[in-house]
Amino acid sequence: MFSSLGNRLGDIFDRLRKRGALTEADVETALREVRVALLEADVALPVVKDFITHVKERAIGQEVLKSITPGQMVVKIVYDQMVATLGGEGAEINLLATPPVTMMIVGLQGSGKTTSTAKIARLLSTKKRKKVLMASVDVYRPAAREQLKILGQEAHVDTLPIIDHEKPLEIVKRGYEKARLEGYDVFMVDTAGRLHIDDALMEELVQLRNVLKPTETLFVADAMTGQDAANVAKTFHERVGLTGVVLTRVDGDARGGAALSVRHITGCPVKLMGMGERIEQIEEFHPDRIASRILD
Ligand code: GDP
Repeated sequence: MFSSLGNRLGDIFDRLRKRGALTEADVETALREVRVALLEADVALPVVKDFITHVKERAIGQEVLKSITPGQMVVKIVYDQMVATLGGEGAEINLLATPPVTMMIVGLQGSGKTTSTAKIARLLSTKKRKKVLMASVDVYRPAAREQLKILGQEAHVDTLPIIDHEKPLEIVKRGYEKARLEGYDVFMVDTAGRLHIDDALMEELVQLRNVLKPTETLFVADAMTGQDAANVAKTFHERVGLTGVVLTRVDGDARGGAALSVRHITGCPVKLMGMGERIEQIEEFHPDRIASRILD
């Protein structure tokens, strides 16, 4: 996870720490290298600029340069800024609404939406002891609803029985009623994706949102697509309104551009990350732990 970025930064900081006393020029040089490393990791340009500006403001003070371990202090400042860029405190799934808490999972096709829906459902049922009902409203791909049902069986989570030819809004209403009447804590809706953003998709999501009034609207983003993931998330946020992001395929992402861009670009926190294909391979997104993993 984020190993190529971590190695690049590691090399820069090793050199900095070895120098002992530092001049302002040394710090400037190191920060130029950090800038290049971030850009090569596909972090979005406005995020990189903001990152470097903040670090520079704090690192080029007399206090840092005159300290006994200036290199170490610069590394600490970069670490703090990385935690902030990744989202600061971190954010959990909101389960505090009146049950059934409703969740809508959105994103482009192939991003890992259906897998993530089932992973989150399993997480909530095993770790939080919640009774979860899932439904897919992807009526366009015949296999999509079947896929969620199979994943539900694997996760020991209920899925709404499939009725042929039912429309997305009808599925949502039926699912919500079932969840309400049968005492489910959480009702999750896996929505249809498209290969690209299109108006028909957005319109359908807005209608579903208006009916479901989700407590959580989570955007699923493939981390391997780098800063594009953040830009697509921004469009979804503007059109549908998001409460958080689930990053998938973080297990295969050496660069970290999506993780480092998405919060700044969208203002939405990353709440969870997918770390593999298996149903249990999902983790909470803790900015401090992730920054430590990158900078260790
Ligand atoms: P959807 O079209 O957005 O619903 O995408 P799917 O849930 O069907 O996932 C597409 C593919 O990505 C599947 O082969 C999943 O197993 C895989 N996938 C999903 N999440 C992850 C993840 O976190 N890591 C890895 N390595 N693969 C994932």
